[in-house]
Amino acid sequence: MKLSTLLPISLLAITAIIIARNPNEEPILDSHVTTAEEQANLTPDEVLKQFKEGNQRFQSGTETRRNHSEQVRKSAPGQYPKAMVLSCLDSRVPVEDVFDQGIGDVFVGRVAGNFVNEDLLGSMEFACKVAGAKLILVMGHQHCGAIKGAIDDVKLGNITAMLANIKPAVAASQDFQGDKKSSNTEFVKRVAINNVKNTLGQIRERSPILKEMEEKGQIKIVGAFYRLTDGTLEFVQ
Ligand SMILES: [Zn+2]
Repeated sequence: MKLSTLLPISLLAITAIIIARNPNEEPILDSHVTTAEEQANLTPDEVLKQFKEGNQRFQSGTETRRNHSEQVRKSAPGQYPKAMVLSCLDSRVPVEDVFDQGIGDVFVGRVAGNFVNEDLLGSMEFACKVAGAKLILVMGHQHCGAIKGAIDDVKLGNITAMLANIKPAVAASQDFQGDKKSSNTEFVKRVAINNVKNTLGQIRERSPILKEMEEKGQIKIVGAFYRLTDGTLEFVQ
């Protein structure tokens, strides 16, 4: 092989080795954990904005790359979460990921059908009144099995009593124009959204503490419908 051919190949190889060994090419992992001061200075609107922006990153695949083991160590002495999210049990709704939040950033309550009972209301009051969270976000989702079960009037063990919590949303959706069946994804969506609205109403009705905090502007209470198919959120008031 001629020297004129060999030289560019050698240069390319050397460049490749330099790039591979360049420490700057290593991804920088975020190890920040929300502090008490940061939590205190956030407004409910700012938290909602952060969560919406986090969801945009989740959708576009530009999530924050986190150093979880470092975050575990840094968050151990205390927690100052920004929000409380009430989600369904569904395995396809990874709450922290959906909002691109890290360890210590969010309280998560989960129950099939994202309704509230005394225990969840108590958890929300703890999250906001005691621990300083600024946002309550109730998140229903597309293709929800609990919603379909309530529509189909499933009766099985403790599931029967659990689904009774979702029945008011089915009743509130009877004006739907079209097939009112669990096989109709549009009807299932309507019930899921009415179920989120019902949960928002229950929070305000059954928790004077949270209602007062909302009226004073100390917290915001919002609902959302999460689409499994593309990771987007539709906000519900
Ligand atoms: Zn569900």
